[in-house]
Amino acid sequence: MIEKATPIRARRGAPAARALAMLTAAAVAFAGAGPAAVPAHAQQAPRGLPVIRDTEIENLMRDYARPILKAAGLAQQNVRVVILNNRAFNAFVMDGRHIFINAGALFDAKTPNEVIGVFAHETGHLAGGHMMRLREKLAQAQTQSIIALLLGVGAMVAGARAGSGAGNIGAAAIMAPQSAIQRSLLAYVRTQEDQADHAGIKFLNATHQSPRGMVDLFKRLANETLFSSQGTDPYLQTHPMPADRVAALEVLAKSSPYWNVKDPPALQLRHDLMRAKLSGFLEAPGTVLRRYPLSNHSLPARYARAISTYRHGGLSQAIAQIDGLIKSEPNNPYFEELKGQALLEGGHPARAVAPLRRAVQLSHDAPLIEIMLAQSLLATNGKQFAAEAIRLLHSALRREPEMPEAYTQLAMAYGRKGDLAHADLASAQAAFARGDTKTARQLAERAKHRLPVGSPAWVRADDIVSVKVPTHKR
Ligand SMILES: [Zn+2]
Repeated sequence: MIEKATPIRARRGAPAARALAMLTAAAVAFAGAGPAAVPAHAQQAPRGLPVIRDTEIENLMRDYARPILKAAGLAQQNVRVVILNNRAFNAFVMDGRHIFINAGALFDAKTPNEVIGVFAHETGHLAGGHMMRLREKLAQAQTQSIIALLLGVGAMVAGARAGSGAGNIGAAAIMAPQSAIQRSLLAYVRTQEDQADHAGIKFLNATHQSPRGMVDLFKRLANETLFSSQGTDPYLQTHPMPADRVAALEVLAKSSPYWNVKDPPALQLRHDLMRAKLSGFLEAPGTVLRRYPLSNHSLPARYARAISTYRHGGLSQAIAQIDGLIKSEPNNPYFEELKGQALLEGGHPARAVAPLRRAVQLSHDAPLIEIMLAQSLLATNGKQFAAEAIRLLHSALRREPEMPEAYTQLAMAYGRKGDLAHADLASAQAAFARGDTKTARQLAERAKHRLPVGSPAWVRADDIVSVKVPTHKR
C-alpha cells in the first residue's frame, strides 16, 4: 500500500517537462475492483481502482466544480475531478489537486445541486488544507498505516464498531491502532468536517447556489447509518456524520438567502443524461429497463436504453436507437460519440469514422473523442489515415498527456508510416505513462539512436532515459 502512494509525491515534485504523470496514479493506492463495462474510455489504474474517463461527464463535473473552486480561491490550482468506477457512495480529496467522486455518488444524486453540495464540502477540505495536515497527524502517529489515510480515518469507527469489516481490508487493517490514537484522530476529523461544512456553505452562498442539495444528501446518508448496521457507504467512513453535525448544518444552510434556488432546467437535463449514461454502461439490462421502462420516452431514458442495447444486445438495434437520439438532438456530440463507439467496438471502425468526426467537431476537439477517432482510423488499416491519426493524437495528448493508450495508438500510426524512431518514442511514452519505467527507458534509448541528436523528439526521449527510477521502500 505504501509504495503505491509514493508516486503521487514523487510526481508532484517532478519538472513539468517530465510530468507524464498518470492522473490515475492518485487512485492506485486503493484496493478496488470494479465491473468491466464503463463509459467511453475506462482506464484501469495500474494495480488499482478503475477510473472512468468520459468527456460528457467530466465536462459536467467541471461545470459543477468551477464556480465553487473559484469562490474558494482555488481557480488557479487546476483541481481536477476524477470519477471512480465504484457503485458505493463516496467523494473525497487526498492530495490538494483532485476531487474524487464515485460513479455511485453521481448516480445517487438526484439533482446537480446535490453533487455541487458535495463538491462545496470537499472544496472546504481542500481550502482548509485538511488532507495535508491529516498526513502530518498520521506521520506523528507512527503505528498508523497509510491505509488509514487513504480509506479515511473515519473508517476506524466503522471497522471498530462492526468488528468484522467483511470484505473491507481497510477496516481490518485499521483495527490495529491503539484506541488513544483513534480518539485523537477522530476528534480531529470531526473538527475538519465542521470546518468543511461551514466553508462549503460559504462557497455556495458566494455562487448564489442553494445549500439544500448538500443538506438533503447528508440527511439521507445519515439516515442510512441509522438503519443499516453494516455496509454503510464509504463516504460516511471518511466523513463521519453524527446527527448533531447534520442538525447544525441544516440550521446554517436554512439561513442562506439562496435556500430556494433551483438548478437551471438545462443543467438538470445534463445531470439526468449523465445518470442515464452511468446506468446504461454500469447496470445490468434488466435493471436499466426497470429504471427506464419502455413507456418512458424522455431523452435520458432513451439514452440509457440505447447504451444498454449496444453493450448487451444487437448492434443494429442499438444504432437505430442512437440515430433516434441524434435526430432529437443533432448537435449533441455525445450521441455521435456513442454511435462511433458502438460501431468501433462492434467491429466496424470504418463506419465509426463519420460519427466520430462529427463528435470531435461538435465537442470542439475533445481529446478523448479525438483519441477514439484516431483509433478508428488506424483500425481501418488504411495507410492514408496514419497522418490524420497522428495529428489527432498529438492534439489530444497536448491536453491529456497522461493517456498510455493514446501513445500506443501513436506508436501504431508512426509504425504504419514506417517512422520507427517516432514509433519507439511513442512506445516509450506509453510505457512511461503506464508506470513501466524500465521498458520506457529501454525504448527511449533505442529511439534516441534513431533520432537526430538535439531534435525535440530526441530531447523527449532523453528526458525519459534520464528519469530517476523511483525507489520503492517502506
Ligand atoms: Zn468531509
